[in-house]
Amino acid sequence: MENSAQLFNRATHFIPGGVNSPVRAFKSVGGTPIFMESAKGAYLYDVEGNRYIDYINSWGPMILGHAHPDVTQAVSEQGLKSSSFGAPTELEVKMAELIVSMVPNIDMVRMVNSGTEACMSALRLARAYTKKNKIIKFEGCYHGHADSFLVKSGSGVATLQIQSVPGVTSTTASDTLTAAFNDFDAVKRLFSDHPNEIAAIFIEPVAGNMGCIPPTKNFLQQLRELCTKEKALLVFDEVMTGFRLAKGGAQELYGVKADLLTFGKIIGGGLPVGAYAGPREIMEKIAPVGNVYQAGTLSGNPLAMAAGLATLTVLNESPSIYTSLALKTKQLTNGLEKVCREQGIPTSINTVGSMLSLHFTSKPVTDFASALAADNERFKKYFHYLLKQGIYLPPSPFESWFICDVLSDSDIEYTILKTSEFLKTLA
Ligand code: PMP
Repeated sequence: MENSAQLFNRATHFIPGGVNSPVRAFKSVGGTPIFMESAKGAYLYDVEGNRYIDYINSWGPMILGHAHPDVTQAVSEQGLKSSSFGAPTELEVKMAELIVSMVPNIDMVRMVNSGTEACMSALRLARAYTKKNKIIKFEGCYHGHADSFLVKSGSGVATLQIQSVPGVTSTTASDTLTAAFNDFDAVKRLFSDHPNEIAAIFIEPVAGNMGCIPPTKNFLQQLRELCTKEKALLVFDEVMTGFRLAKGGAQELYGVKADLLTFGKIIGGGLPVGAYAGPREIMEKIAPVGNVYQAGTLSGNPLAMAAGLATLTVLNESPSIYTSLALKTKQLTNGLEKVCREQGIPTSINTVGSMLSLHFTSKPVTDFASALAADNERFKKYFHYLLKQGIYLPPSPFESWFICDVLSDSDIEYTILKTSEFLKTLA
């Protein structure tokens, strides 16, 4: 079998940058992406047979670990019955019922194929419902790659330092207003500068696309009150946080009610799925009940529903998973903080539930500017040091790490040990 470097070389001839999503390229950290062959539990295995402890978990979906038996079985059984019908199935009904039972404040859900599609569709719906055009998003938050969201975006856009994305027209971009994450006064100013023009605030309730950044106390609640006052919709993009921070996502964790929600990642159990959800009054504006058009040849695809349903069922039936995920994350965070302190290396580690990120800086990381100000050259070295030791971190400081339920104590201890060894190389 060819090694990763050989495969990457072949890939670059036929796939732009050799990857089908820019975040997989090692462009900002340097080197060649690792080509994977298989994965089981908390480990990835590359084409050369090397094993890695996985802290990306497919960028969030694999909360139960890779190749979970329930998920594998559900997908295999469905595969034998056909991979697509283009007609409704009971699986879709079960999925919608389960999601509505797990997530607070929603009556209805529409399945799509990605987080991008979910956010793009929720945006159209929010505009149609409020009859207003502009939206507010936060610098460093990522809501997929629809034109309206590629303004001061996080994730790969931040990693690749693309200040404005060619192909997004200035007219479209001018309808997207931005504020710094956690800056409530800036949001208030945007509403007073654009009276009665703002349809919605889109927010990752816990940002995960500039590293992990929690909302400051009351920030989400303040946004809630402001949206109600201004007759704008509050849209929680729970593509990362949904079913990860709690069964009911960030709404449950923070006790703040959103008007619309978007999902992706975990909801598909590793298959391409997204969804948007909300109260009946808003959701019934969507076609075919209403005239806000949105459709999809493969939406609610049976294989994808089987994987998603199996994953959500495990989470729904064993809520102690969230406690155990948080404990593992705490154990890792405490250990990392301890070795950084011992070695005198300033770091800011943010964590909420099973999301975390480590920035090399002595200052708190509370928004995109503070994430950008960290020593991201040092992060590159850290990334490569750990990769060589069989630990697979996201290849950018602007991405959250995700912990899965099968990560063991010894995986955590090993990660702390290797971090400590790395820090010693800096002395
Ligand atoms: N919203 C958030 C918060 C995300 O993190 C992502 C992807 N990382 C998206 C939307 C887009 O999802 P997808 O990549 O499935 O289109």
